[in-house]
Amino acid sequence: MAPPPKILGIIGHPVSHSLSPVMQNAAIQYKSLNYVYVAFEVLPHLLGRAIRGIPGLGISGVNVTVPHKEAVLPFLDRISPEARFIGAVNTIVREKEELIGYNTDGIGFSRALAQEGNSSLAGKALLLLGAGGAARAVAAQAATEGARELIIANRSLPRAQRLETDLLGKFPDLQCRSLPLDSTAIEPLLPTVDLLVNATTRGMRPGDPPPVSLAGLPRHTMVYDLIYNPPVTELIRISRQRGNPALNGLGMLIYQGAASFELWTGSAAPIDVMKKALEIALGSPNAGD
Ligand code: NAP
Repeated sequence: MAPPPKILGIIGHPVSHSLSPVMQNAAIQYKSLNYVYVAFEVLPHLLGRAIRGIPGLGISGVNVTVPHKEAVLPFLDRISPEARFIGAVNTIVREKEELIGYNTDGIGFSRALAQEGNSSLAGKALLLLGAGGAARAVAAQAATEGARELIIANRSLPRAQRLETDLLGKFPDLQCRSLPLDSTAIEPLLPTVDLLVNATTRGMRPGDPPPVSLAGLPRHTMVYDLIYNPPVTELIRISRQRGNPALNGLGMLIYQGAASFELWTGSAAPIDVMKKALEIALGSPNAGD
């Protein structure tokens, strides 16, 4: 008799909208691995009990999504340096009875930028909009890969300043500054920006205006919006209209999931298969390509 499949999954609340099961199960099937990836709806007050159950149930690993990414840290045995810096875990790997927390958002962003934007973070001046979990992941990755300058603009200035302080504590040579998310403060800096990243949630709702005005942004500057649904935010639409190359967050979603898949299975993730599965699930017009 074939051995039972090893269990992977995602823990969140709500979790039914997550595209991770579609993407990960497509990868598992394509690689003929004996795993199954399921969605676990976990209420916040039961998070500790759910996490402590992972070794007992022999679950191999899980993704962690909203609202548990930060709350999960105290229940883990070890936390990787990048997840510790970010203050959030999106991937848990079980090694025997131990649970190790990682955050694959930063590497997912960097790989997406390289593969889909033919670009890199090294030597770049970045304007980062937002200072939440995703922004912290991008900022840490940018600093690790040798970005020249990091300008962090956030609606709540103290949160941006906290990120700046944390970055300078870890990367003392980094050129870094924080600003309010306000076009008057940002516009004078736009001419020197090589890469603009939106890591705010602004753009997720239909009709959301772009987080900043792009007047003064050089036409060659790449714009990366971490949002992937809707696929074309106002920021992306306006960027493309003025001639700036612009990418949405679908690539980052794929590559962060690919990094989790590789941590769990030790097998190279089939990127094209994962991308196709996501495009079909999102109803993209490119799904049939
Ligand atoms: P988060 O920790 O809740 O942070 C939200 C950020 O958005 C904060 O900087 C917040 O500013 C800002 N914000 C919220 N509403 C705003 C508004 N109306 N105007 C301007 N700024 C606003 O969320 P997160 O996990 O970092 O996620 C941020 C975005 O990245 C989301 O759209 C998420 O879907 C996306 N994301 C994509 C991927 C991917 O794989 N593509 C991965 C992770 C996240 P304050 O600090 O002032 O509240």
